[in-house]
Amino acid sequence: MTFKAPGREVDRIFIHCSASDRPEHDDISVMRDWHVNSRNWSDVGYHFFIKKDGTVQEGRPLERIPAAQAGNNAGTIAICLHGLTAERFTKAQYESLIRLCGEIDTAYGGMVTFHGHREVSTKDCPVFPYREVLGLDAHGSSSLAPTVSPLTSDTADAIPTVPRPTEPLLRLMARGQPVLHLQAMLSRAGHILEEDGIFGQNTLAAVQAFQRSQDLKADGIVGPRTWTALRAVSAA
Ligand SMILES: [Zn+2]
Repeated sequence: MTFKAPGREVDRIFIHCSASDRPEHDDISVMRDWHVNSRNWSDVGYHFFIKKDGTVQEGRPLERIPAAQAGNNAGTIAICLHGLTAERFTKAQYESLIRLCGEIDTAYGGMVTFHGHREVSTKDCPVFPYREVLGLDAHGSSSLAPTVSPLTSDTADAIPTVPRPTEPLLRLMARGQPVLHLQAMLSRAGHILEEDGIFGQNTLAAVQAFQRSQDLKADGIVGPRTWTALRAVSAA
């Protein structure tokens, strides 16, 4: 599945959980049945449903606003992961969520923010640590996508590929778990710096020094080539 942005405006993505761990509920058709027959809605409320095995199912057409966050549906996309107990969400689900959100973030040039349903509701939804999973900052921005259009960059290193879950494209101003991962790898590679999860000037200088040491273009943008070099050096 490749995400294609709908014609309507979107600025927020909401994450949900299905509040069930039962295997027989692990399918968008069950959610659709609940929403259509129990709530009299025209279709399932979510746009995407992620099964325990990581399969991403498409629900309500993206051109339609979701029915998922009361009072906060306009301008949003709604994603639901099957699960009730935080510990029982699967790695495959998290990887699919990261990949899907990465595609969405890329489609919008990093201009959308990601949120849990709980941020606009008293409901305990989702129950898993979505901020950590997606590496979100306090505003809900992810560093999953470049914030500048890839067309404005002339570096092959900046061409967005499907990111490894913990190794998205990173540049100045990125924040969160992937930046901590980067800083730890830079430190192991001999470019010691404070591991604070913020891609600031010190991290930029360390990235450029590392890139120069590897004969990579020292553009300070951490893309697939820089990650690969970092992994090679860290493993040595
Ligand atoms: Zn919810």
